[in-house]
Amino acid sequence: MYDYAQLVDREHLLCPHYIPDDLKLVNVPFPCQVPTDDLRRFLKKEAAVYVQEMFKAAAKEKISLFAISGFRSYKRQSVLYQRNPNGAVAFPGASEHQLGLALDVSTPDVALELTEEFEFTQAGKWVAAYGPLYGFILRYPKRKTSITGIPYEPWHLRYVTKNLALYLTLTGMTLDEYHIHFSKKKE
Ligand SMILES: [Zn+2]
Repeated sequence: MYDYAQLVDREHLLCPHYIPDDLKLVNVPFPCQVPTDDLRRFLKKEAAVYVQEMFKAAAKEKISLFAISGFRSYKRQSVLYQRNPNGAVAFPGASEHQLGLALDVSTPDVALELTEEFEFTQAGKWVAAYGPLYGFILRYPKRKTSITGIPYEPWHLRYVTKNLALYLTLTGMTLDEYHIHFSKKKE
């Protein structure tokens, strides 16, 4: 069975050829400059379905949410990394976007940018509070940067299923801590 809790980081790299076998076009608003067939608009099927549910719920509450970037291939990650080797770009194979389970989101209040200011917008507060009900967590929280190894990213949502998202939210655990905890238990 597919593991939606899969850990991907510098120590747990994906193969260069890994692409989810069930990528699905996510039918939610993206900035108009993203071409309609661009891979950024795709996610692994189950995540895509729940993103759509989440955006529907946000729209009902007049929250203006935009999807910015979903799936990213290893090749594309390599290009971005080479352009920005010291910046905030994940090493090729170390990005959850290659899993097709991560979605960056933003809102017009911050000009659709991926910025820490997103946290203080209505949309930023909404996804942090309600994302878990749709299976999404803020993967790189503010006070956990020493554990995740990634600076705070209030815009980066990771699909882990609703059960796990609620569990992690209630316990305050990151996905990294969850894996550390359960691998210790197995020993
Ligand atoms: Zn991201």
